[in-house]
Amino acid sequence: MPKASPQRSCLACREAKDKGSLLRFVLAPDRTLVPDLQQKLPGRGVYTCMKASCLRQAALKKQFGRGFKEEVPAVDAELLLGQVGAKLEERIASYLCLANKAGKIVSGADQVAEKLKKGGVGMLVIASDISKESGEKFRGLARLKGVRCMTLFTKERLGELMGKELRSALAVTESGFVASIDLEMEKYRNFFEEERE
Ligand SMILES: [Zn+2]
Repeated sequence: MPKASPQRSCLACREAKDKGSLLRFVLAPDRTLVPDLQQKLPGRGVYTCMKASCLRQAALKKQFGRGFKEEVPAVDAELLLGQVGAKLEERIASYLCLANKAGKIVSGADQVAEKLKKGGVGMLVIASDISKESGEKFRGLARLKGVRCMTLFTKERLGELMGKELRSALAVTESGFVASIDLEMEKYRNFFEEERE
């Protein structure tokens, strides 16, 4: 029989879920709250859903102190949300970096357009500060070829990740990397999606 994965409850909504799907927090020695996305930091951990709404609620209702059973200095909810958002972005960035090192990314406007036309692109990443015209061109090509498209990071950041100058678009060409990036992207989107009822 498969071993049941350990369950933990969200500090805010109290729902019990697989530990791995939740967001873990530990207390640093100076008692600041540290988001532990890898779930590897030592010490007692408390959990919230991987959702901005639950995290905000836990911070506002001072649930962290209750979770750790000790005094936790007031938590700035928006600061914490920003930290988690940045860490989620970092995970996407590191996969893009790895894919590039493995030679599975085409970058540069002309090369990306060319590759999209030729086929073999699993995912298109477009810089958030790309010109409207170029953005429409890339999105149109992606739609035509049925390639998933996401907008994230600035041209400067995309270039940095590739170890190059500004890059307005990247084409990821290997399905394993596409799947990993997709998964991280999904977490990122879910996190910031507010509850809509
Ligand atoms: Zn929750």
